[in-house]
Amino acid sequence: MNVIAPQQTVVLASGNPGKLTELARILEPLGLQLRAQSEFGVPEVDETGLTFVENAILKARAAAQHTGLPAVADDSGLEVDFLQGAPGIRSARYAEGGDEANNRKLLAALAGVPKAGRSARYQCVVVFMRHALDPTPVICQGSWEGHILEQPAGSGGFGYDPLFHVAAFNCSAAELAPRTKNRVSHRAIACAQLEQALLGSLRSPESPGS
Ligand code: IMP
Repeated sequence: MNVIAPQQTVVLASGNPGKLTELARILEPLGLQLRAQSEFGVPEVDETGLTFVENAILKARAAAQHTGLPAVADDSGLEVDFLQGAPGIRSARYAEGGDEANNRKLLAALAGVPKAGRSARYQCVVVFMRHALDPTPVICQGSWEGHILEQPAGSGGFGYDPLFHVAAFNCSAAELAPRTKNRVSHRAIACAQLEQALLGSLRSPESPGS
């Protein structure tokens, strides 16, 4: 991958302040300053892709095109095996009525399904594009395994977290301390990969191993 200039501003193709904080923490030590796309008036893009990768690229490309800056975007969602991967890329708008409606719809779709059939995972794809026509975006992916509870538990997190049981902690994602979730989640894994990829690409071309 080509080297990225240090001290570069990078635009985040999202309006989510949580994502801005998390990704800024990763990019800052690399000398990259992350700024939200709202600062540049980047319009929302239609997520017309059929995969997390396509949608993340659509968002990053639009932000890079509008600003002329490198861009980072993510796309994430919940895959439930019994539902052949649904809600998947439609996770945010599964029930067209926000998080609570999504969770109700998910519980209804799994009514009567025993624990063994309720396996699921969160997926997150993070994409970094050096410019709008970048033919080789950096693509990072993290997944986080769990199963869907029969009723919500906990009040932290967001989205499907009250229904997403994590065996390693024996609780729902909504019952985890935010610090813990941010260390082990699908997003944390994808972001850690991005950190490694960018560290490699920020090395000077003359440095050993580059
Ligand atoms: P987006 O990547 O911001 O478009 O989010 C996709 C949707 O996936 C969210 O609106 C949630 O419904 C779901 N989702 C993604 N990550 C998480 C998570 O960490 N917890 C709960 N729900 C999530």
